[in-house]
Order: sequence, then C-alpha cells, then structure tokens
Amino acid sequence: MVKSENIPTPAVRRLSLYLRQLEAFHAHDRRTVSSRQLGEALSLSDAQVRKDLAYFGQFGHPGIGYRVPELIVQVRRILGTDKVSNVLLVGVGNLGRALLSFRGFSKRGFEIVAAFDKDPAKIGMETQGAHRVRVRPLSEMAKTAQTRSIRVGILTVPGSAAQATANEMIAAGIRGILNFAPVRLQVDDNVWVSSVDLAVHLEQLSFQINDTVV
Ligand code: NAD
Repeated sequence: MVKSENIPTPAVRRLSLYLRQLEAFHAHDRRTVSSRQLGEALSLSDAQVRKDLAYFGQFGHPGIGYRVPELIVQVRRILGTDKVSNVLLVGVGNLGRALLSFRGFSKRGFEIVAAFDKDPAKIGMETQGAHRVRVRPLSEMAKTAQTRSIRVGILTVPGSAAQATANEMIAAGIRGILNFAPVRLQVDDNVWVSSVDLAVHLEQLSFQINDTVV
C-alpha cells in the first residue's frame, strides 16, 4: 500500500465513484465484478480501475475479480466513512440552512451536529430538517469541536468573511473544510480544503453546449 500523501488526488476522488457504483451493483444483488465491468459503468478503463485500487491494497481475487460486498467495506474503511463523523457548519444562511436540511449526509456517514453564526438574531434558533441543531455563537466552536470530536467543518459564510472564519475553525481543531465561499483559502499543510463552486460546473456545461472554438 502507498502512503496517503503519495496517492494522487484524482485517484482518491474516484474512490467515491467506485463506492457509489459498487453500492448500485450490490443493490442489484451482484456478488462479484471485474475491473472492466466497474470501469465500463463509470466510463473508465479497466487499467485505471486496477491502478487506482492498487494504491490502497490488494482487493482482487484471481479468476473472480472483486467481491462486491467485501470491496464496499474496504472502500468505506479507506474513506473513513465506515463510522459516523460529526461535522459542524459555520454560516446558517440560505445555503447553510439548505445543507442542514439535507438527509443525504447521514446516509454517507456524516452528521452535522453543530451550527454557528455571528448574527445575534440567529443564535439560539433551532434549525429545521434532517440536522436539527441550535445555532451557537462562534465563541463556543472550540469547546463544541472538542467535546463532540469534530474534525470536519462546512463553511457557508460570505466570501468576505471566509478566510477569517476558516482560521477560527482551524484554531478550534477543524482539519478538513468543505468550502462553499468563492475564496481560495490559505491553510497550513495539516489542513485539507475541498472547495465547491457550482458556477464552475455551469461554465463547463455552457462550454459544452456552445460548441465555440476561437
Ligand atoms: P447568506 O448571506 O444567506 O448566509 C451567510 C450566513 O453567514 C449568514 O447567516 C451570516 O450571518 C453568516 N455569517 C456572516 N459572517 C459570518 C462570520 N464571520 N462568522 C459566522 N457566520 C457569518 O449567504 P448564502 O446565500 O447562504 O451563501 C453563503 C456562501 O455560500 C457565500 O459565500 C456564497 O457565495 C456561497 N455559495 C456558494 C455556492 C457554490 O456553488 N459554491 C452556491 C451558493 C452560495
């Protein structure tokens, strides 16, 4: 097995795709799958599938391929989603509230157990939907992160407040930030940031439907 810092990020990202596809196979009672079949389902080559999975261990069985339930367990273990992770969210605005009401995170092993905002009008409010939590002031973040063992945080504050808020999250013990703010966050090497920008996806679609070559 290769050290995690030497594994290319795209290979780690594809692990989530493999997991989704394996779960779909499992839902259809499929017991085994070859690298070719797994690759075909995801428009990837069999060589790519084998190479990606080989970074994490030896999962194939000669003459059989991969055992679907076994590989699901292994991939969840590698991703760390075989156990529930507590997550916090900062910025209970439109997007923050939408994420708090989303049930899908729990199914994937993530529970948003705490939410923070700086707006005094929101503090003390109970959020609605899947993750019902009381909105807390930022001053409680470090203690909450420690007592609830939270290491991952979702950042949904305006761009102008994003870096300072990320710094507060890191000081509170957060090591992974899912950043929705349109800002490139500066963080130390021991902190991981994953940024989501839906406009990037829209731009890709716009490019694809436009067919314009300059
Ligand atoms: P919003 O104004 O409705 O909510 C922002 C919330 O953050 C408010 O509750 C506000 O009180 C709080 N806040 C502001 N400063 C804070 C601070 N320093 N500490 C804690 N809380 C603070 O905004 P929104 O529409 O929910 O958008 C939130 C963020 O998400 C923005 O940065 C926006 O650009 C971004 N966004 C990204 C995408 C995407 O595709 N990535 C899509 C929509 C919105």
